[in-house]
Amino acid sequence: MSDRYSRQEAFFGIGQEGQEKLLSSRICIVGLGALGTVTANNLARAGVGFIRIVDRDYIELSNLQRQIIYTEKDAAEALPKAEAARRHLAEANSGIEIEAMITDFNSSTADTLISDVDLVLDATDNFETRYLINEACRANRKSWIYGGAIGANGMTMNFIYGDDQPCFCCLAGTDNKGTGQSCATSGVLASTTSIISSYQCAEALKYLTGNGMLRKTLLCIDLWENQIDEISVAKDPDCPVCVHGQYSYYGKSLGMQAVSLCGRNAVQIIPEEPGDIDFDDYAQKLAPLGRVAVSQFTLDFENKDIGIKLFKNGRAIIKNVDDPNRAKSVYTEFIG
Ligand SMILES: [Zn+2]
Repeated sequence: MSDRYSRQEAFFGIGQEGQEKLLSSRICIVGLGALGTVTANNLARAGVGFIRIVDRDYIELSNLQRQIIYTEKDAAEALPKAEAARRHLAEANSGIEIEAMITDFNSSTADTLISDVDLVLDATDNFETRYLINEACRANRKSWIYGGAIGANGMTMNFIYGDDQPCFCCLAGTDNKGTGQSCATSGVLASTTSIISSYQCAEALKYLTGNGMLRKTLLCIDLWENQIDEISVAKDPDCPVCVHGQYSYYGKSLGMQAVSLCGRNAVQIIPEEPGDIDFDDYAQKLAPLGRVAVSQFTLDFENKDIGIKLFKNGRAIIKNVDDPNRAKSVYTEFIG
């Protein structure tokens, strides 16, 4: 037996038995930004046996201040976050399986991404995806751990399937768009995301080993005002999700989707049906219209007005555009 996990096994809450459980556990981390990179790093090193990492975006220089596993080289290459994370995590722990999914977590991908895991960790930056995670987890009988951070404020809560505790919809209400703040406009400290992620990871270790006492409250932290609160959240006796099983996001077919990316002057386009894009074909077609660069994972196209980053499955990020409808027409004009 190697001593890779000796310090974790020496801890009374884990032990050798707990370590074996971790090694046979499967998790999905949704989002590989500030929270997700800390979570993936901690849980890969902790020896969680199978980790599916899901992210739709690519790395930029402004990520490096808090997205702890990426490097300047990753940003220069604008690698997809899921692929860069997979490479770094595999270097840290070659004894576990890491599955990189360069995709959007949406109603058509949710089941595939979570149906075969034991626990889902939220590391997203928007309420809409969290509502979907909440509903998809309920439908797939999965537990998940919510985490959110902005500025020096963070919060986290466990949503365990099968107990009679509130769900995310009980907490947030049915149509909550969040605070309207984003990390791009209000900023975020790496200290905030690290501590919230660390709480999520500790709860994940308890859940996966079956040891310890899971927190049942909403934990809120304000690092700038030195305040930590635990808030009891009541179950909504009329909650559409956890009481009535009615879903507003899960299982909905959405057609071609255009989603503005938080503070980025960019819009993500998800075609109605995922395709299998032949980059060489598109490179030929687009070359007369602007500059084209092809890598293993993406095709980049730029002309004087717009930029397009096209992924293998037909998903694209349209740059220098913030109107979703304009982005859809750019996509239709150049990609099809
Ligand atoms: Zn509920």
